[in-house]
Formats: sequence, C-alpha cells, structure tokens
Amino acid sequence: MTQADIGLVGLGVMGANLALNIADNGYKVAVYNRTAEGTQAFIEKAGHLKDMFIPCYSTEELVANIKAPRPIILMVPAGAPVDQQISVLKDHLKDGDILIDAGNSDFHDSNRRYKELAGTPFNFVGMGVSGGAEGARFGPSIMVGASEAAYGRIEPILKAISAKHNDEPCVALMGPEGAGHFVKTLHNGIEYADMQMIAEVHEVLTETLSLRLQEQAEIFSKWNEGPLASYLIEITASVMAVIDEETGKPILDVILDTAGQKGTGRWSAVEAHLLGVPATGIDAAVAARCMSASRALRQEVAELYPQSDAVLTWEIKQEGIDACERALIAGKIAAYADGFAVLAAGGKENGWDLPMGDIARIWRQGCIIRSRFLDEIAQAYDENSDLKSLYLAPAIAERMKDAVPGLRDVLSLSITNSVPTPALSAALNSFDMIRQKRTAAYVIQGQRDFFGQHGFERTDKEGSGFHGPWPAGGA
Ligand code: NDP
Repeated sequence: MTQADIGLVGLGVMGANLALNIADNGYKVAVYNRTAEGTQAFIEKAGHLKDMFIPCYSTEELVANIKAPRPIILMVPAGAPVDQQISVLKDHLKDGDILIDAGNSDFHDSNRRYKELAGTPFNFVGMGVSGGAEGARFGPSIMVGASEAAYGRIEPILKAISAKHNDEPCVALMGPEGAGHFVKTLHNGIEYADMQMIAEVHEVLTETLSLRLQEQAEIFSKWNEGPLASYLIEITASVMAVIDEETGKPILDVILDTAGQKGTGRWSAVEAHLLGVPATGIDAAVAARCMSASRALRQEVAELYPQSDAVLTWEIKQEGIDACERALIAGKIAAYADGFAVLAAGGKENGWDLPMGDIARIWRQGCIIRSRFLDEIAQAYDENSDLKSLYLAPAIAERMKDAVPGLRDVLSLSITNSVPTPALSAALNSFDMIRQKRTAAYVIQGQRDFFGQHGFERTDKEGSGFHGPWPAGGA
C-alpha cells in the first residue's frame, strides 16, 4: 500500500474535518484516534474519500504508514492530552519529522514544548487553526509557529487546505515557538469582543426600539452589505431568523442566556494585562460571559433592583438603527486597535517579528472574525508596516471619526435605559482615553506620592522624583 503524505491524531470534530479537507486536496492521510471506534466510525463516513485514508490502530502503525520525513498533526484537546501524545510519539519520530499541535493550545505551553523538543531530531510546530468545523473541512485560517525550515516543508499542504481570499491562501508563518498559538489566542480575544458587542447592540435594538428578532435579522443582513460585512454579522442574522420547531418561537427566545468559554478569550485578556497593554473590549467581553454564567445570582439581584419601565428612545426609528450600526463599527475598530496592540507587544516581548499585515490578511477568510474591515487593516499595514496603532491609520481614522458619534448616542440611551453595554462602553472609554493629551492620572500620582512618597514628574521641569508639600498625614 502507498504510504500516507501526512498523519493525523484525534478524529473529533476538528480532526475529522481537517483530515477530509487534506484528503480532498489530494494528500493521503494516515489517521489514528485514541479509541479505535472513533477511527472506524470516521472511515465508515469517509464516503468517496475512503481510499485516501490509512486507518491506524497504534502509534507504531501510524508512524510506519507515513512517508518520511513525516508531518503528523495532533488535533486533541489542549493541555495534558498534547503532552501525552508528544511523549508517546517522540520515541518513534526521526530526523526531519514534524509534529504539529493544531489544537487551541496556550502559547506558553507551545513555547515550552518548542524549547523542550529543540534537542530532538524532529521539529515541533504550534499551529493555530480557526474556522470551526466548517473551516476545518473547507478551508480554515492557519497561524503557524515554526522554524522557517519546518514551515517550508509543510507549507504546500497548508496552502492547499487553507481558506483562500482572492486566491491568496490564508496561512502564514507567524514566527517560531508559540507565535502561531499566540496569534490564534488574540484572534479569539477579538472574536469575544466582536460577539459581545453584537449581542449588546441586539439588546439596544430590542429594549429601546422594541424591534422583534425577525426585524433585527433583516437589519443585520443589511449591515452585512456595508462596512460591517463579516461572518459574525452574517450568522447573527441567520440565527435571529430561525424558529424553534418545538415552540414556534424564535430560537433565540428559548436559548438560555448563559455563554460558556473555553479559555482563549480569558488568555487574551490576561496576556494583555501581563504585557501592560489595554484591551478593555476583550476584558469586558470575558467579564460579560462570566456575568452571564452567574444566572442564579442575577435572578435574585433582579428581584431587588427591578428595571424601570420608562424607556427613552429615538424619535426616528431609522436614526436609532443607523446609530447602532455606527456604534458597532466604532466598537469593532477599538477592539481591533487593542487586539493588534497586544499582538505587537507580545511579539516584541517574545522576540518574534510578528507579520502584522499578514495576520490581517490571513484572517480575511476561513476564520470566525473574517470581515471586510480586515482588508482595511491589511491595507493600513501595507501603507505603513511600522504602524504604532490602528487609530493612526488615515483610512481607519476617517471611519472612526464618522462612527464614534453613533456609539455615543447608543451609549447615552443604553445607560439611561439600564441596558448593559460593557464592551461597547469599554471601547468608547478606551478610545476617549487614548486620544486624551492629558489624562487624570496626575491625581493618581498625587495620591501615590501623598501616601507612599513614590515621587512624580512635573510638567514644567525636567527630572523625576519630585514630592508634594503634602499636609500632615502624608507618608
Ligand atoms: P473533540 O472533543 O471533538 O475531539 C477531541 C479528539 O481528541 C477526539 O478524537 C478524542 O478522542 C481525542 N482525545 C481526547 N483526549 C485525548 C487524549 N488524552 N489523548 C489522545 N486523544 C485524545 O474536540 P475538537 O475536535 O473540537 O477540538 C480539538 C482541538 O481543536 C482542541 O484543542 C480545540 O480547542 C481545537 N479547536 C476546536 C475548534 C472547534 O470549533 N471545535 C476550533 C478551533 C480549534 P476520543 O474519540 O477517543 O475521545
């Protein structure tokens, strides 16, 4: 039997779809699943692609059935399962083999694994894959952390299976070590912010304009033809239009209001804090998911603090809808500005020269945050590869200036009407602060010097370590 071009371990949702995608592109795949039933079930469902797979029932069999040098993809849950698989496989791998962790691993783990395995004859690659099951099957966005040599060897397969934007493959080398997983983490952080802001605008449309879900589905479909055009806006319109078969109600009316999280959004927020870079929209989105999960507490508090019935609204309905569209545009720009700032800082901290323009380019198709706006970001980096902040890109600045008044309108009304808008509010506050020439931090410096003699700098003199003539009570 001809040997396989590549191996894949873990035939769950992502692994099975990725294996089918690889086979569809003409590469033979040796597949292995922890439980044999998983492998058998996969082969039974492989249909016309069946002959493109070699089912394997042990690690030895898997390795023996792949052409050397062997690329092997791990598509198992992040954490201990990845380490277990590495320890099982590593004694069988030879010179030039490439072990690719394609799950949602913490990039710190990928950094560690990359360094730990540096002395072995094979290469370790940490690879972020985005696009869910459908992306895995028909073309995901792929963010690779690898040495240039290892990347060069797997690039043809990755280019073949990745999503395409105007024929350009949505895959790129982000840098060595955990660079690929770091970029994937921030992708997910931005995704959290995007999703939360969409949910908030839905609530504003419901509470201030009494728009039903069917009407909102039409509004979101229309927005999907403009600057907000994106996968998340498109699927929100679809989700809003679906009717529950059991009750005949819109499905969103019967879905419980608690959103889960697996960790990548939180990792983005934590990383932003560790790097000292504000990512307030992502922070707020993570916090909002936590808040949604405290359902029982929310019921109790709601009893004690009932909402008022009075509702302030827009006089002209279309004005409200347009303001909501602009609020989402402004919020999105702020979330991406933060996200890209964290990427830049993380790249610097880890010694990776992250290709910022390529990141925007490979996110334009295949991944969950794919959107028309990413074209504008890619263009901004094409025009200035040293861009300090997305806010400084001329085209993005124009868009932001146009959109911010809409965000202010929406927030004024949502705050008056007690409609929670944590991510949109965070976005506006972050923008309002980043454009301040003088923040209120001089008060904090005064306080710190008062109680702790921390010293401060002055606006009118060079130097540092000045102290105030504080009254008695200061430290
Ligand atoms: P599934 O739960 O569908 O599949 C997990 C697979 O891993 C199964 O084949 C399972 O085998 C195997 N597995 C579980 N534990 C171990 C272990 N200890 N050792 C060996 N194999 C093990 O998960 P997904 O396919 O959804 O996710 C896989 C990875 O991809 C995760 O890291 C996830 O975060 C990431 N990811 C998921 C996305 C999604 O939309 N689902 C999107 C992008 C990335 P068995 O059949 O025996 O249980």
